[in-house]
Amino acid sequence: MRLKYSHGFRMLNYAMVGIMFHHFHNGVDHLPSQGSLSAKGLDALLSRLKQTYTLLSANVWLKKALNGQLNDHDICLTLDDALACQWAVALPVFQAHNLTAFWFINTGVLDGQGDTLEIYRHFRHTAFPTMEAFYTDMKAAAMAFLDHDPWVNFQAAQYLTEYPFYTEGDKRFRYLRDDVLTPAQYHTLMTELMAATHYNPDNQALWLTANQVQQLHQHGHVIGLHSHTHPTALDRLPLDQQQAEYTENARILTHLLGEAPITMAHPCDRYNQDTLTVLNGMGIQLGFCAHRSQRPSMLEWPRVDHTAWASRSV
Ligand SMILES: [Zn+2]
Repeated sequence: MRLKYSHGFRMLNYAMVGIMFHHFHNGVDHLPSQGSLSAKGLDALLSRLKQTYTLLSANVWLKKALNGQLNDHDICLTLDDALACQWAVALPVFQAHNLTAFWFINTGVLDGQGDTLEIYRHFRHTAFPTMEAFYTDMKAAAMAFLDHDPWVNFQAAQYLTEYPFYTEGDKRFRYLRDDVLTPAQYHTLMTELMAATHYNPDNQALWLTANQVQQLHQHGHVIGLHSHTHPTALDRLPLDQQQAEYTENARILTHLLGEAPITMAHPCDRYNQDTLTVLNGMGIQLGFCAHRSQRPSMLEWPRVDHTAWASRSV
């Protein structure tokens, strides 16, 4: 299938197929964080998208995609990471627009294990006055931990160039987390930092419940895979571990929904040929990445983060 380019927003020079969302805020129990969107902001964004694109419910978009019937301007809504704020803030807005979405569920959070990625994000947004303050503490801790400067050869302009919304600090942090430290080293560092700031990771209600995922499915939303434990660099795992991540993810969702998921989104946009082999072998028919696909495949449909419209959002 050939993807054609959309021209609705001149700032985007690549095919826009899915809008990608993660965090939402309401100022009550879900506080604003980097890249988070309010109900009002989401409503305004959907209204604006409808002026240029054909915003389809996920189940309609999926059917057209699988049948090769999508038009240039057909787009859909996708949410990653099984977050409670998505249910509380975004779902009512989707309902008001009579739309369903794709929800990509990392099932580890549904069985009480929690997801350290999300806990750490919540930690750095709520335990520090600014993100830069977190980066300053993180840098000092990392340099002490490693006994050298891990950024000595780092060039921010060359790193994660496909994500224009990241600041230099964001890039330095992600480089340290994903490309310098092992997962075990990173968890050790974050555990030390949380203890130092008296943050309790066991006291946070950040995720959807299994019952909510069931309800979404029953109301026509499309539930897809997003790995079980949400590794930040899944492409670094050997094939058998990637297989285990997605097999467990699919097993839990199949049990919950009464049918096997056929869609997925790549966690942190990190995957390799092994990942695609695993997903193909499991019968996954459609996957989303989060960048401009150089060679789009059925498991690499492009998505655009909603923050691409940040300057135009309410
Ligand atoms: Zn994710």
